Amino acid sequence: TRSPEESHEAWEQCKDAGRKLPEYKVVVLGASGVGKSALTIQMTHHCFVKEHDPTVQDSDWKEVALDNSGYILNVLDTSGQDILRALRDQCLAAGDGVLGVFALDDPSSLDQLQQIWSSCSQHQKQRLPLVLVGNKCDLVTTSGDADTAAAILAHKWGVPFVKTSAKTRQGVEEAFALIVHEIQRAQEAVTE
Ligand code: GDP
Ligand code: MG
Repeated sequence: TRSPEESHEAWEQCKDAGRKLPEYKVVVLGASGVGKSALTIQMTHHCFVKEHDPTVQDSDWKEVALDNSGYILNVLDTSGQDILRALRDQCLAAGDGVLGVFALDDPSSLDQLQQIWSSCSQHQKQRLPLVLVGNKCDLVTTSGDADTAAAILAHKWGVPFVKTSAKTRQGVEEAFALIVHEIQRAQEAVTE
C-alpha cells in the first residue's frame, strides 16, 4: 500500500492532469425518436440500447474521458420534456456546443430539428457551435431526401454535416470530434 505522502502526491498529479485538460460540454438536441439517447449511450458507454425508456430523465451530464484526445467530453442528452422552452434554454446555457440530430429515415425529423434550432437561436445571446447529425444511417441504403436536404441546410447554416449510426457506431466518434473542433474554433475566434 501507498504511504500517505505517496497517496497525496498521486492525488496531486491526478488533479493537475485534470486541470490541464479542457472540458467541452455538448448538448444533444432533436425531435423525439431520432436516436439522441442511443447516440449518447453509444458514445459514453460503447453499446447500443435498443429500447430506451423515453420517460427516463436523461438530463444529466455524462462525462467521457477519451483516450489521447486531450480533453474531457461532457454530453447532455435531452428528452422530450426539454422541448419545453425554459428547460431547453437552461440546457443550452450550460453547453459549449450542440449536436443537432435528425433521423435519415424520417425527413420530417429534419424539419422538426430546423424548428427547434431556429427557436433556440432566437434566445441565444451568441450562436452555439452546431454540427448537423443524420442518424440511423444503417437503415438507409442510398442517399435519400433527408440526406440531400440536410446537406443543403448544413451549407446554408455553415455547419458540418455527418452521418451516424448509434447502432453500428459508424460516424459517432467523428460527430463528437467535429463538434469539439467547432467549439475550439469558436473559442479561438473569441480570443483572437
Ligand atoms: P431519442 O428519443 O432521440 O432519445 O431516441 P432513442 O435513442 O430513444 O431512439 C429511438 C429508437 O430508435 C430506439 O428504438 C432506438 O433503438 C432506435 N435507434 C436509435 N439510433 C439508431 C440507429 O442509429 N440505427 C437504428 N437502426 N436504430 C436506432
Ligand atoms: Mg431519449
